[in-house]
Amino acid sequence: MGRIMGKHFAFVSLAAHGHVNPTLPLVEELVTRGHRISYATGGDQAAAVRRAGATPVEMPWHVELAGLAGRGYTVENMIKMMDAGIEELITTYDELASPFRADRPDCVCFDVMGLPGRALAAELGVPGVGLAPNMVGNEHFSLQQQMWPADLDHTDPRLFASGQKLAGFAHRRGLPLQALLPTAARAGLNLVFLPRKFQIAGETFGPEFRFLGPAVPGRARPDDWSPPTADAPILLISLGTVFNDRPDLLRLCVEAFADTPWHVVMATGRADPPDPVPANFEVHQQVPQLAVLRHASAFVSHTGMGSTMESLLHGVPLVSLPQTPEQAFNGRRAAELGLGRAVDPEAVTAAELRAAVEELAADRAVRDNLASWREELRSTDAAARGADALTEFLAGDPGSVAKGGVDV
Ligand code: UDP
Repeated sequence: MGRIMGKHFAFVSLAAHGHVNPTLPLVEELVTRGHRISYATGGDQAAAVRRAGATPVEMPWHVELAGLAGRGYTVENMIKMMDAGIEELITTYDELASPFRADRPDCVCFDVMGLPGRALAAELGVPGVGLAPNMVGNEHFSLQQQMWPADLDHTDPRLFASGQKLAGFAHRRGLPLQALLPTAARAGLNLVFLPRKFQIAGETFGPEFRFLGPAVPGRARPDDWSPPTADAPILLISLGTVFNDRPDLLRLCVEAFADTPWHVVMATGRADPPDPVPANFEVHQQVPQLAVLRHASAFVSHTGMGSTMESLLHGVPLVSLPQTPEQAFNGRRAAELGLGRAVDPEAVTAAELRAAVEELAADRAVRDNLASWREELRSTDAAARGADALTEFLAGDPGSVAKGGVDV
């Protein structure tokens, strides 16, 4: 199929690095092929989006997810978060839509967890494409069932009230409510930033799901880091960018790895840095993760999907210290596939954590397995396949919603 040159793509993501970063290699590839991208996300993500070659549309999105971490993963907090997402859609939608009304895109690529991009595709009547940085769902596997608190009652009147708000928004704008609901409408094309074999029930997903896998960006995330000494193995410790206010876990890591042969690179996130900092540690609020992974022998990670995929791209074994049910699920999946280990962050001791890291780093079978995953991921050219899928989709019959497709 011939390439269609010079299309205008709207990317509508969330204000979250974990959702934006996986898409950046695709953005770079589309720009290289002569397409134009307007990319709606939060202010903190705008610089990387611009470096990738897109025009950022900076949105005042602030839905605060951090309250859901650890023991905060309660029905109460979940309902509050869902309602805040709907409120945010209502209060910021026109700011999102107005530049696109003036400069219409040919296609809206929206994060499958967000509402605004679905609304934009429906309003403009242009094809919508799902962007999935996490596992996706179908009738064989439900990520939501893994993520939602077990005691969430789907008939809770507060959920109903939020649903009514969303229905009111759709009605006022003449949009079909079905088109806005991630649980009701599946896009005709969904780009998934993990390989099919990491996805649960991967073989059951049809051609509207393209499992691209992860890729290393070329210019979007320039980072530079070198090991301070040639002989110490490097251990990266990070809990990501959202659920990272865990000074207790940082202290546990200090206890586990102080005065060991490891050189530890630790991201502190929202937590205060440990005090004192052991001599074999370097501590930063945020670390240049891709650069550190190039040198690392192990990664103690919250196993957000972005970090999980970046670790596999670099052949680095993962010790999962998850903060949410989804992260725990990713960590267990990595362990099940022989790529890492999962520990319980609420129960693990410093000695157990150190043993998990050391056993894993010394495990020959895990190392060989990681090397083969790494080679496979690097040889698939995820960004080029994503760009091909998009242009083929637009050149074909891009009905924006596949008939009967429902994500569960
Ligand atoms: N990241 C980084 N430096 C840090 C922490 C995170 O560069 O100190 C990047 C990381 O490389 C990944 C993203 O931020 O691309 C985090 O995404 P992930 O899905 O792992 O987790 P989240 O932050 O969404 O929980």
